[in-house]
Amino acid sequence: MGMQGQVLCANAPAAHFDAEPFHVIAESELAAQPLVAVGVCLDPFCSAQFVPSRPWQRYCSAACRKRDEAEFRRIGQKAAPALLAWQMGRYARPGPLADLSRVGRNYYSRLAADWLRDRRARSSQNGRVVDIKSFQDGKATE
Ligand SMILES: [Zn+2]
Repeated sequence: MGMQGQVLCANAPAAHFDAEPFHVIAESELAAQPLVAVGVCLDPFCSAQFVPSRPWQRYCSAACRKRDEAEFRRIGQKAAPALLAWQMGRYARPGPLADLSRVGRNYYSRLAADWLRDRRARSSQNGRVVDIKSFQDGKATE
């Protein structure tokens, strides 16, 4: 075993950043404008209509929830370094840090746009176009 200080550090509880989840921060906004119409499965591979057993139920089944949560994790892991880079150089003077920040911001924007486009395409393949855009436009169809 090494120096006692190292042992103490290794066993010390790590400071842990944990932000409030989006659905907590945006609770009232999501209630007024859900990501998909209430009673439509949020998993774009499914998009089935169902009768929620709880008001906050967003998926028709545990399988759909698990599959979509895995997709959220996958996209989140791709977005995370871009978000850090963007924020690190957000107010930087022109130079490598500002360049990195711009690439991070552009990557994040493109990822978000491409992801939403892909989810809409998958959802509409099921013949149930009830995504955010059509829902906002009042054109939601079965
Ligand atoms: Zn489903």
